[in-house]
Amino acid sequence: MFASVIVDIPSKSVNQVFDYRIPDGMEGLIRVGHRVLVPFGRRTIQGYVMKLRDTTDFDPARIKEIARTLDIEPVLTEEMITIARHLADYYVDQYISVIETILPAALKANYRKVLKLAEGHTAEAAAALEEVAGDAETEPKRLEAGALKALAPYLKSGDIIEETVIRQHTKKKTALAVYSLKQQGEDLSRAKKQQELLAVIDASSEPIFVRDLVNDGFSNHLINALHKKGHIGKVEREVERDPYSGRVFTSDPPKVLNAEQQHAYGRITEALDAEQAKTFLLHGITGSGKTEVYLQVIQKVLEEGRTAIMLVPEIALTPQMVNRFKRRFGDDVAVLHSGLSHGEKYDEWRKIKEGRARVSVGARSSIFAPFENVGAIIVDEEHETTYKQGDRPMYHAIEVAKFRSRYHNCPLILGTATPSLETYARSEKGVYERLELTERAGTKVLPEISVVDMSEEHRTGNTSIISKPLEAAIQTRIERGEQTVLLLNRRGYSNFQICQSCGHVPMCPNCDISLTYHKSNRSLLCHYCGYEGPVHRTCDNCQSEDVTFRGTGTEKVEEILRDMFDADVVRMDNDTTRRKGMHEKLLDHFEQEEIPILLGTQMIAKGLDYPKVTLVGVLNADTMLNLPDFRANEKTYQLLTQVSGRAGRHELTGEVIFQTYNPTHYAIQLAKENDYRRFYEKEMAFRRLARYSPYYFHVLFTVSSEDVRKCLKATSHIHDTLIQKVSDQSIIVGPSPSPLERINRQYRFQILLKYKREPELLEMLNSLDEHYHEAYRTEGISLRIDVDPLVIM
Ligand code: ADP
Ligand code: ZN
Ligand code: ZN
Repeated sequence: MFASVIVDIPSKSVNQVFDYRIPDGMEGLIRVGHRVLVPFGRRTIQGYVMKLRDTTDFDPARIKEIARTLDIEPVLTEEMITIARHLADYYVDQYISVIETILPAALKANYRKVLKLAEGHTAEAAAALEEVAGDAETEPKRLEAGALKALAPYLKSGDIIEETVIRQHTKKKTALAVYSLKQQGEDLSRAKKQQELLAVIDASSEPIFVRDLVNDGFSNHLINALHKKGHIGKVEREVERDPYSGRVFTSDPPKVLNAEQQHAYGRITEALDAEQAKTFLLHGITGSGKTEVYLQVIQKVLEEGRTAIMLVPEIALTPQMVNRFKRRFGDDVAVLHSGLSHGEKYDEWRKIKEGRARVSVGARSSIFAPFENVGAIIVDEEHETTYKQGDRPMYHAIEVAKFRSRYHNCPLILGTATPSLETYARSEKGVYERLELTERAGTKVLPEISVVDMSEEHRTGNTSIISKPLEAAIQTRIERGEQTVLLLNRRGYSNFQICQSCGHVPMCPNCDISLTYHKSNRSLLCHYCGYEGPVHRTCDNCQSEDVTFRGTGTEKVEEILRDMFDADVVRMDNDTTRRKGMHEKLLDHFEQEEIPILLGTQMIAKGLDYPKVTLVGVLNADTMLNLPDFRANEKTYQLLTQVSGRAGRHELTGEVIFQTYNPTHYAIQLAKENDYRRFYEKEMAFRRLARYSPYYFHVLFTVSSEDVRKCLKATSHIHDTLIQKVSDQSIIVGPSPSPLERINRQYRFQILLKYKREPELLEMLNSLDEHYHEAYRTEGISLRIDVDPLVIM
């Protein structure tokens, strides 16, 4: 018996299966989907069994044996193996990288090199190793150069060998904690901060995690000092892994569906009963009760003994959604998202695999949840770009969802208030069945939206970022004890620093982008590569003292708001939510303390549902509109609609104000009128004229290198290849510099291919990919091929 194995080497040249012999007596124990250790060249590496066969095409005499299996139960199902193949082909990538995306990171191999004695070694070799390592085995990286030299003769003679050992990630998660020894250590009377720290540790009845202390402002250095002075002990303490354990969720009974909800529910459950792999677009305005429909469909799926997958754009941004699922389905729900540690993810994954959870709620990668017998797949906010992975494999979760829906013969539901143009176009053609929810659930109505022309504000003498109408509206909310949500898609204090004498703007040394001023840490930051530079009072270029800051970010608006209204503000952006759990903390604070104003970047646009929010203000509706991407209008429409939906979701009616310099732009006007249909028609007309998706398919080629000439050479090579190979119905745009021409010291050039039908395309993409894999190693040129790109930057 032979096993075809995909090995854990992410290289194009081994993107194929290798056959290994199954050792005698192991037949039946090694199955498809098992992780195994196999000899490969001179190493032993991890692999995945893709297929079992009675014969092999390789020379049986030269075939090696599987060293051992790592699992009792296979980790990959047949379904996942076919998905891996499909995705690797479709997105021009390697099987191994797709497999490793499908599986939780805890199952991935982690290698360690060790030096050990070979069989039949000499006694001197053993003595030498013992001498330098104090052991019969050691890691070369732990040895000093001199020690390695002492071993060199034995390495040459083969008495000591280097071997690769696979280390599995630990299953129990622990973290370093400290506890008080409650004893007299070295004197602390002159170390105030250390006394303070010791008091905190003394007061705790159990060990405190070091990282929690660090979060609270005590440095590692300080903790170590206390340890050295003999006041505290260190211990590895197990970390609680279920992030929702210990929390009580009150139960939430199903609601009586209204007529539109009932119709949608009926159509979906018909497909469920008929075991039909059908895709539905659930197009419902914000607050129309889409989630209630999902919940009831899942209820039915569970009653029929099947399982369900629910995707949300980003769990951290939608804590309320998780709560609703937990309240409805209790422990049947597994929550999967990027904020979990490897161990937590692995626990949730196992819960699903072992049938202890029958519903998953999670972000993009949870589409790979290892369920069997799936009865429904739901993708909420289907238009969100987070559903496509930004690095390899650049898969789209909906592509996987469609595959799984066909595999399990179950309905797929794409829900949103603002469908992507591609999805809506398919519903127009009848490829997807469209279900409409046109009214807000219950008796609530959509908020009234008005547009403020900011150029007009300037003409009448108001140069503040808060227009007069918005100021008055916020004031009214404060007086009435209601709450306001404000969106500004720009973090930091000021966008950039500029010298008024010579016009110099400090730029990131690694990227082609100006640095953003952050007041709280008094620095200039690059939002792309994280570079941090000091703020100078004089111009670096002409030494003039006449430097100022331009543009306004969330940090500055927070100050402006506090001054203007003398009110509390909760600010949510990448800077205030970097720490785990901060999203939820800030939102709880906003709700429970009834803070008058929540200000944030687009992370506040989704999912929030608070009864007292009656005003939403968009401070600059144009930030998205000005992006150099053909989807700029679509993204603007979606964001404005999304954020407007946060207002007046309960008894109190809502009001929305958009501030803009383009008051007549159709994306803004039609978002104001809440007229998706007209927006769709206008935007489709533009896409047809400009020959973009959904009229054409796209492939985006991005070449990057530190050497601009290499970029140019590679892009012209790709361009020539395309010209030769594609039909004349296709369009090749570029080569041109990417809108962000340099990031992280890498120059970037791009070519966009637009096509309707290219039967030979896949083959060509594969050969280009292979070619540039090689070029990456030899010349440092990298090529990224993005199939169906969502961002053209
Ligand atoms: P969406 O997902 O479309 O934004 P939700 O499902 O969150 O809408 O519903 C909005 C609000 O209306 C929620 O508070 C929800 O509990 C309530 N709701 C939904 N369906 C009904 C219904 N049939 N009857 C009464 N209230 C409902
Ligand atoms: Zn200057
Ligand atoms: Zn940078």
